[in-house]
Amino acid sequence: MNIVKIMKFGGTSVGNPERMKALIPLVTDNEKKIVVLSAMSGTTNSLVEITDLLYSDNVNEASVKIESLREKYHKVVDDLYTTEEFIKTGHELINSHFDYINNFTLRVFTKLQEKAILAQGELISTSLFQHLLKEKNIKSVLLPALNFMRIDKDGEPDYFYIEENITRELRKHPADAIKITQGFICRNVYGEIDNLKRGGSDYSASIIGAALKVKEIQIWTDISGFHNNDPRYVQDTKVIRELSFDEAAELAYFGAKILHPSSVNPVRIKNIPVRLKNTMEPEDEGTLITSSSVLIDYKAVAAKDGISALRIKSDRMLMAYGFLRKVFEIFEAYRTSIDMVTTSEVGVSLTVDNAEYLNEIAKDLKELGTVEVEENQTIICIVGDFRTEKTGSAPEIFTALNTIPLKMISYGGSPHSLSILIDTKNKTQALRLLSKHLFK
Ligand code: ADP
Ligand code: ASP
Ligand code: MG
Repeated sequence: MNIVKIMKFGGTSVGNPERMKALIPLVTDNEKKIVVLSAMSGTTNSLVEITDLLYSDNVNEASVKIESLREKYHKVVDDLYTTEEFIKTGHELINSHFDYINNFTLRVFTKLQEKAILAQGELISTSLFQHLLKEKNIKSVLLPALNFMRIDKDGEPDYFYIEENITRELRKHPADAIKITQGFICRNVYGEIDNLKRGGSDYSASIIGAALKVKEIQIWTDISGFHNNDPRYVQDTKVIRELSFDEAAELAYFGAKILHPSSVNPVRIKNIPVRLKNTMEPEDEGTLITSSSVLIDYKAVAAKDGISALRIKSDRMLMAYGFLRKVFEIFEAYRTSIDMVTTSEVGVSLTVDNAEYLNEIAKDLKELGTVEVEENQTIICIVGDFRTEKTGSAPEIFTALNTIPLKMISYGGSPHSLSILIDTKNKTQALRLLSKHLFK
């Protein structure tokens, strides 16, 4: 069966009964599609809180939160369905998920169980939505993501397995039924329930789209496409109508929350267009991400928090060959990837976003020189065309930021982006100044 498109709806797009009902006209256009759903907004956060409480053995408080979330969902059921029969089965469905979660309060809690609890958000939203289509006599089926979505030992999608298994799942069902599946959740190499990290439903959509070689992947969210700056911190941001895979990947990696950082990789290889659309304004064309790029001087700005900088000083051997290899090997040993690197005659500075092994890395680096660690840093990434004469030296960027202390600058790694490290406390101001100077 040829699936033509993937339609992924995020948390706010399924965030309440009205929003869920509003999806019906969008998914009933007779094209063969897979609908990928996130959990209702706020649910994954609540489930994270519950698992945190269970970890810290705060069972009573966890139970209170579980019951309050259960109540919230019972209200959703009351408003979502119209017939008594469907309301009754809706309540039963909610109870089965919450009884399952509640069972974890009775035993010792482990890391594995955390993932099983977090998976409930997407399992519930997809079941509720499929039940809604059934009430409206619209043919649909659930494709359980846990039957085909799998990551390997490095946490990367196992494309071979996914393609084979989703194709097999699809063969089980009639061609005309709308296929619904869960975003975010998967199994790991041991077959345990796992996930694609926060915001991972976008990644699910692009992995599935790439596996099935669809014509288009649509990511439906609460804003009309990719904006030229982060609308959570800056007013008057503008939508960008076209982005290349490289530009979108760079912006998503450096903090543009509208897309999961890894979601461009699978589609870039298969050259599948991604369209970002607004469920609240479905007629708006949104943003189209393809292999081609419309070059303009400054296209967009994004910011990534939670960065730590490490500065290694070594007068003895810095510029000696083999020195950088030794530095990188330490990061590799702790499976920690580096975002930015800058070097000088006497030192090298690097940034990481994963601080799990920061102390161990710093300790090992001390064998090579003196080491300084600075946390609470933010990388600002500016995407544009830095080959033009005007932006060749990026004058507006440095004029815009002339009141902000710049900790590191990375320029030349790509002709399309420039990254700057600043203290997180200066982020909002920096983003606003950049909008003022670059997008006036
Ligand atoms: P969903 O739940 O649909 O996945 P997200 O909250 O993950 O939605 O992503 C959409 C949000 O991303 C927007 O509401 C907006 O606040 C935020 N965002 C951050 N940077 C950008 C950007 N450059 N363009 C558009 N939205 C952005
Ligand atoms: N529900 C998950 C989250 O909140 C995945 C997603 O929404 O994309 O992170
Ligand atoms: Mg998201």
